[in-house]
Amino acid sequence: MIAEIFRIVTENPTQLIGWAIMGGLLVQVGLLVTAGAQRALFERQRAQQEQVRLALEIKAARLKIQAVETEKTAWNGIRKFTVAQKVKEAEDTFSFYLEPHDRKPLPQFKPGQYLTFALNIPGSAKQVVRCYSLSDIGRRTHYRVTIKRCLPPPKTEHPPGVGSSFFCDTVQAGDIVDAKAPNGHFFLDMEKPRPVVLISGGIGVTPMVTMANALTEAGDTREIWFFFGARNSTDHMFKTYMTEIAAKNPNVHMQVCYSKPLPTDVKGRDYQHEGRVTVDLFKALLPSNNYDYFLCGPGPFMESITSDLTAWGVPDAWVHFEAFGPASVKKKAPAKTADAGAPAATAVEVTFAKSGKKVLWDGSHDSVLALADEHGVKIDAGCRAGGCGSCVVAIKSGAVEYAGAPPEVEAGSCLSCICKPKGALVIDA
Ligand SMILES: Cc1cc2nc3c(=O)[nH]c(=O)nc-3n(C[C@H](O)[C@H](O)[C@H](O)COP(=O)(O)OP(=O)(O)OC[C@H]3O[C@@H](n4cnc5c(N)ncnc54)[C@H](O)[C@@H]3O)c2cc1C
Repeated sequence: MIAEIFRIVTENPTQLIGWAIMGGLLVQVGLLVTAGAQRALFERQRAQQEQVRLALEIKAARLKIQAVETEKTAWNGIRKFTVAQKVKEAEDTFSFYLEPHDRKPLPQFKPGQYLTFALNIPGSAKQVVRCYSLSDIGRRTHYRVTIKRCLPPPKTEHPPGVGSSFFCDTVQAGDIVDAKAPNGHFFLDMEKPRPVVLISGGIGVTPMVTMANALTEAGDTREIWFFFGARNSTDHMFKTYMTEIAAKNPNVHMQVCYSKPLPTDVKGRDYQHEGRVTVDLFKALLPSNNYDYFLCGPGPFMESITSDLTAWGVPDAWVHFEAFGPASVKKKAPAKTADAGAPAATAVEVTFAKSGKKVLWDGSHDSVLALADEHGVKIDAGCRAGGCGSCVVAIKSGAVEYAGAPPEVEAGSCLSCICKPKGALVIDA
């Protein structure tokens, strides 16, 4: 090779000069092309960064406008609502369309939040406070809640639930009800673009309908899995809605389970699966476990789903739940009564003065209210999240603590649903 080059140089020096010029030119062109490509890449990156910056600015402006509007239209205390419409959704289940009596615009709320009603029920000595999730997104002119009659526990003679029966039997279109502003910590963060699994049993479907509506009406195309469990078509509420939302939105995967289908119920038309909603079903249908999970339903349903999700490797931070009743989703260690042996080192005595019960708080309950529930001490409760104020009880001695900032509550009282005893405690319950 070297000998060949030497031969060309000695025999034909002009050819070599030509090659050298050509080579130089090629290098120049190469450098120009590379510099041009680099500049184009740089410009593209700058344009992309600018797009992201603009999108963030638009989002921040939108959130600011929403916050200002919500603040302008929010209300403190009670606001009067006229029942514009009462619609039967399933057996013993009705939707109530509520228009503000003052006709002023309503604030937006986060999908999953609830209204707290203060009900003056004939025959009840005091006001009955109950929370009901908003079952549709905010429409500025009206809200919607959907209420199922709370039946007595099986094989008991107790009357059905006071608040839900009042809504189902007595409240009619044209009536006026009192409600506090939307509230609650269980909601879908619309700005977090994660695919979601919305899981519900029975009336627990109400916040899920709002979440699905909020996403689809915003044109959000993230993957949405909607699992709903009912006994059969008699309590399959929002059936038409569920069929339509899945038909119109290819990103919505609707999966309805009937635990006891009627002979007239048709698989594939009325429901997709016979049996209950379970994590095994998720494993069979979902491509992975990488979702945000929202669940609401009866206590045992939520307990089994949350523990099976954990066993499937789903981190707690991805699982969000709302309990409609006293059943707590966390598993509780049985508390010991004060005279049942020596207390654990950290245990403190809680006395429910009116009921004459002394029990030990061993740290395994979420709140003083949960401890009271377990020992059959009746304390009125609504939201169980510190929002509605119906579980306030007087402290006779001792003190309580709260996980976050202490709520606004009268001195000498506590919000029993979110407080824990700080040493021995005596409360008026
Ligand atoms: C955040 C939140 C959101 C909610 N959203 C909804 C919703 O969207 N839709 C909905 O329908 N519900 C919802 N709920 C539940 C609702 O707030 C009420 O808890 C429910 O309607 C029952 O209230 P009630 O007054 O009808 O029953 P209660 O009068 O409180 O009775 C409860 C149960 O106790 C039984 N009972 C009566 N007397 C006795 C007795 N002596 N001993 C033992 N048991 C007895 C009753 O038969 C009934 O089963 C929600 C709850 C929360 C906390």
